[in-house]
Amino acid sequence: MKGCVACGLAATRKNTVFARGNPASDLCFVGEGPGADEDAQGQPFVGKSGQLLDKMIAALGYHRDDVYICNVVKCRPPNNRNPEPDEIAACEPFLKAQLASLQPKVIVGLGKFATQTLLRDQTSITRLRGQWREYQGIPLMPTFHPAYLLRQPEEKRLAWLDLQEVMKRFGKKG
Ligand code: SF4
Repeated sequence: MKGCVACGLAATRKNTVFARGNPASDLCFVGEGPGADEDAQGQPFVGKSGQLLDKMIAALGYHRDDVYICNVVKCRPPNNRNPEPDEIAACEPFLKAQLASLQPKVIVGLGKFATQTLLRDQTSITRLRGQWREYQGIPLMPTFHPAYLLRQPEEKRLAWLDLQEVMKRFGKKG
Protein backbone atom coordinates (compact mmCIF):
# COMPACT_ATOMS: atom_id res chain seq x y z
CA MET A 1 0.00 0.00 0.00
CA LYS A 2 2.96 2.36 0.66
CA GLY A 3 3.43 3.38 -2.93
CA CYS A 4 -0.27 3.39 -3.79
CA VAL A 5 -1.31 6.05 -6.32
CA ALA A 6 -4.84 4.78 -6.89
CA CYS A 7 -6.42 8.14 -6.04
CA GLY A 8 -5.56 11.83 -5.98
CA LEU A 9 -4.65 11.86 -2.28
CA ALA A 10 -1.31 10.26 -3.22
CA ALA A 11 -0.17 13.61 -4.64
CA THR A 12 -0.30 15.51 -1.33
CA ARG A 13 0.37 12.90 1.36
CA LYS A 14 3.67 12.58 3.22
CA ASN A 15 3.00 9.02 4.38
CA THR A 16 0.37 6.38 3.90
CA VAL A 17 -1.25 5.51 7.24
CA PHE A 18 -2.22 1.85 7.38
CA ALA A 19 -3.01 0.93 11.00
CA ARG A 20 -1.64 0.59 14.48
CA GLY A 21 -2.19 -1.93 17.24
CA ASN A 22 -2.66 -5.66 17.41
CA PRO A 23 -3.48 -7.33 14.06
CA ALA A 24 -4.91 -10.30 16.02
CA SER A 25 -7.32 -8.17 18.08
CA ASP A 26 -11.06 -8.87 18.38
CA LEU A 27 -11.72 -5.14 18.56
CA CYS A 28 -11.18 -2.71 15.70
CA PHE A 29 -11.66 1.08 15.66
CA VAL A 30 -12.22 2.74 12.28
CA GLY A 31 -11.90 6.48 11.81
CA GLU A 32 -12.22 8.77 8.82
CA GLY A 33 -8.70 9.45 7.60
CA PRO A 34 -5.29 10.72 8.69
CA GLY A 35 -4.79 14.29 9.93
CA ALA A 36 -1.59 16.31 9.91
CA ASP A 37 0.11 14.47 12.81
CA GLU A 38 -0.84 11.09 11.38
CA ASP A 39 0.38 12.07 7.90
CA ALA A 40 3.71 13.21 9.36
CA GLN A 41 4.24 10.06 11.45
CA GLY A 42 2.55 7.43 9.26
CA GLN A 43 0.45 6.26 12.24
CA PRO A 44 -3.30 6.65 12.85
CA PHE A 45 -4.63 8.61 15.86
CA VAL A 46 -1.37 9.97 17.24
CA GLY A 47 -2.40 13.60 17.91
CA LYS A 48 -4.67 14.99 20.65
CA SER A 49 -7.66 13.00 19.42
CA GLY A 50 -5.45 9.90 19.48
CA GLN A 51 -4.65 10.56 23.13
CA LEU A 52 -8.36 10.77 23.90
CA LEU A 53 -8.98 7.58 21.92
CA ASP A 54 -6.29 5.88 24.02
CA LYS A 55 -8.22 6.94 27.15
CA MET A 56 -11.46 5.58 25.68
CA ILE A 57 -9.67 2.29 24.95
CA ALA A 58 -8.29 2.22 28.50
CA ALA A 59 -11.84 2.74 29.81
CA LEU A 60 -12.77 -0.45 27.97
CA GLY A 61 -10.04 -2.26 29.88
CA TYR A 62 -7.53 -2.46 27.02
CA HIS A 63 -4.13 -0.94 26.28
CA ARG A 64 -3.94 0.99 22.99
CA ASP A 65 -1.65 -1.71 21.59
CA ASP A 66 -4.23 -4.43 22.38
CA VAL A 67 -6.72 -3.19 19.79
CA TYR A 68 -6.52 -2.46 16.06
CA ILE A 69 -6.97 1.09 14.77
CA CYS A 70 -7.30 2.19 11.16
CA ASN A 71 -9.11 4.64 8.91
CA VAL A 72 -11.44 4.55 5.91
CA VAL A 73 -8.84 6.28 3.72
CA LYS A 74 -5.12 5.77 4.19
CA CYS A 75 -3.83 9.14 2.96
CA ARG A 76 -4.55 12.60 4.37
CA PRO A 77 -7.10 14.68 2.49
CA PRO A 78 -5.62 18.20 2.03
CA ASN A 79 -6.67 20.68 4.73
CA ASN A 80 -8.49 17.85 6.51
CA ARG A 81 -11.41 18.03 4.09
CA ASN A 82 -13.71 15.00 3.88
CA PRO A 83 -12.53 12.33 1.43
CA GLU A 84 -14.34 12.36 -1.91
CA PRO A 85 -16.45 9.36 -2.98
CA ASP A 86 -13.91 8.33 -5.65
CA GLU A 87 -11.12 8.40 -3.04
CA ILE A 88 -13.16 6.24 -0.66
CA ALA A 89 -13.98 3.80 -3.46
CA ALA A 90 -10.30 3.58 -4.48
CA CYS A 91 -9.18 2.95 -0.88
CA GLU A 92 -11.97 0.69 0.39
CA PRO A 93 -10.32 -2.54 -0.88
CA PHE A 94 -7.53 -1.93 1.67
CA LEU A 95 -10.04 -1.59 4.51
CA LYS A 96 -11.97 -4.65 3.38
CA ALA A 97 -8.73 -6.65 3.18
CA GLN A 98 -7.70 -5.44 6.64
CA LEU A 99 -11.01 -6.47 8.17
CA ALA A 100 -11.09 -9.77 6.28
CA SER A 101 -7.65 -10.59 7.65
CA LEU A 102 -8.37 -9.31 11.16
CA GLN A 103 -11.86 -10.83 11.50
CA PRO A 104 -12.69 -8.65 14.53
CA LYS A 105 -15.65 -9.53 16.73
CA VAL A 106 -16.59 -5.85 16.98
CA ILE A 107 -15.92 -2.68 14.97
CA VAL A 108 -16.30 0.74 16.58
CA GLY A 109 -17.11 3.40 13.98
CA LEU A 110 -15.51 6.67 15.07
CA GLY A 111 -17.57 9.65 14.06
CA LYS A 112 -20.09 10.62 11.46
CA PHE A 113 -17.96 10.28 8.39
CA ALA A 114 -16.43 6.85 9.02
CA THR A 115 -19.74 5.42 10.21
CA GLN A 116 -21.80 6.85 7.35
CA THR A 117 -19.21 5.57 4.86
CA LEU A 118 -19.06 2.07 6.32
CA LEU A 119 -22.83 1.75 6.61
CA ARG A 120 -23.72 3.60 3.38
CA ASP A 121 -26.20 5.47 5.56
CA GLN A 122 -26.40 9.27 5.72
CA THR A 123 -28.29 9.31 9.04
CA SER A 124 -26.70 11.75 11.50
CA ILE A 125 -24.18 10.33 13.98
CA THR A 126 -26.35 11.58 16.85
CA ARG A 127 -29.03 9.14 15.65
CA LEU A 128 -26.66 6.35 14.57
CA ARG A 129 -24.60 6.26 17.77
CA GLY A 130 -25.41 3.70 20.41
CA GLN A 131 -27.26 1.37 18.01
CA TRP A 132 -25.66 -1.89 16.86
CA ARG A 133 -25.27 -2.20 13.09
CA GLU A 134 -23.19 -4.45 10.81
CA TYR A 135 -20.34 -3.97 8.34
CA GLN A 136 -19.49 -6.99 6.17
CA GLY A 137 -21.28 -9.18 8.71
CA ILE A 138 -19.30 -7.77 11.66
CA PRO A 139 -21.19 -6.02 14.52
CA LEU A 140 -20.47 -2.29 14.40
CA MET A 141 -21.08 0.24 17.17
CA PRO A 142 -21.15 3.86 15.97
CA THR A 143 -19.94 6.52 18.38
CA PHE A 144 -18.57 10.06 18.31
CA HIS A 145 -15.12 10.82 16.93
CA PRO A 146 -12.56 11.75 19.62
CA ALA A 147 -11.85 15.05 17.80
CA TYR A 148 -15.55 15.93 18.18
CA LEU A 149 -15.46 14.95 21.85
CA LEU A 150 -12.52 17.31 22.37
CA ARG A 151 -14.69 20.13 21.01
CA GLN A 152 -17.88 18.95 22.78
CA PRO A 153 -16.73 17.33 26.05
CA GLU A 154 -20.32 17.21 27.34
CA GLU A 155 -20.96 14.46 24.75
CA LYS A 156 -18.38 12.14 26.39
CA ARG A 157 -21.20 10.80 28.55
CA LEU A 158 -23.00 9.46 25.47
CA ALA A 159 -19.76 8.04 24.02
CA TRP A 160 -19.24 6.21 27.31
CA LEU A 161 -22.71 4.65 26.98
CA ASP A 162 -21.71 3.41 23.50
CA LEU A 163 -18.47 1.94 24.83
CA GLN A 164 -20.39 0.20 27.59
CA GLU A 165 -22.41 -1.58 24.88
CA VAL A 166 -19.11 -2.77 23.41
CA MET A 167 -17.96 -3.97 26.83
CA LYS A 168 -21.20 -5.94 27.22
CA ARG A 169 -20.47 -7.71 23.91
CA PHE A 170 -17.17 -8.87 25.38
CA GLY A 171 -18.81 -9.90 28.65
CA LYS A 172 -17.27 -7.02 30.59
CA LYS A 173 -19.03 -4.74 33.09
CA GLY A 174 -18.96 -0.95 32.56
FE1 SF4 B 1 -4.12 4.70 -2.36
FE2 SF4 B 1 -5.93 4.90 -0.42
FE3 SF4 B 1 -3.89 6.60 -0.48
FE4 SF4 B 1 -5.82 6.80 -2.32
S1 SF4 B 1 -6.06 7.11 -0.08
S2 SF4 B 1 -3.60 6.86 -2.70
S3 SF4 B 1 -6.38 4.62 -2.61
S4 SF4 B 1 -3.76 4.37 -0.16
